[in-house]
Amino acid sequence: MQQYPIPIGNLIEQLSKLPGIGKKTAQRLAFYILEMEDVEAEKLSSSIANAKEKIRLCSICCNLTDEDPCHICRDHQRDKATICVVEGPKDIIAMERTKEYKGEYHVLHGVISPMDNIGPDDIRIKELLKRLSDGQVKEIIIATNPTVEGEATAIYLARLIKPLGIIVTRIAHGIPVGGDLEYFDEVTISKAMENRREI
Ligand SMILES: [Zn+2]
Repeated sequence: MQQYPIPIGNLIEQLSKLPGIGKKTAQRLAFYILEMEDVEAEKLSSSIANAKEKIRLCSICCNLTDEDPCHICRDHQRDKATICVVEGPKDIIAMERTKEYKGEYHVLHGVISPMDNIGPDDIRIKELLKRLSDGQVKEIIIATNPTVEGEATAIYLARLIKPLGIIVTRIAHGIPVGGDLEYFDEVTISKAMENRREI
């Protein structure tokens, strides 16, 4: 990075840490930012700082929220007996688009993946089990993605949760193997939920 003044080198380095951003793109973005009006660049940096400061995990479902508990956990109209377990916060957005699911959610923030050194303790399983201790929950719908890791995580959770006397279901595979929930349309997700099967 010696060819750039240090502040530019630093900016490129930070941008290149973002997913899908290679060195070339990072350079392009850095120069774009430097060309921006001061006020626009300020908005960009303060929106990052603001989001980092205000957004936290919901203490119940682990969704990203600016209010704790999140708006879904606070909603008394939602069915407290059903929890849909998803990999990430974006999956909730996808699921909510269907406007059909009325239960609650739990965000794992990942899946078990021995290849990547991610074990059960590295995702939010403990938090899920804590929610099951009061006997209110009757069904857990596992909506992890249909990847090898998503399936392995579903099986792991089923083994853990079934002995508690809770029905564990898996969303159907109208969703193609290797697919990502957040990219499916409402109809596909609704069908996958409708055709869920006990595991
Ligand atoms: Zn919540």
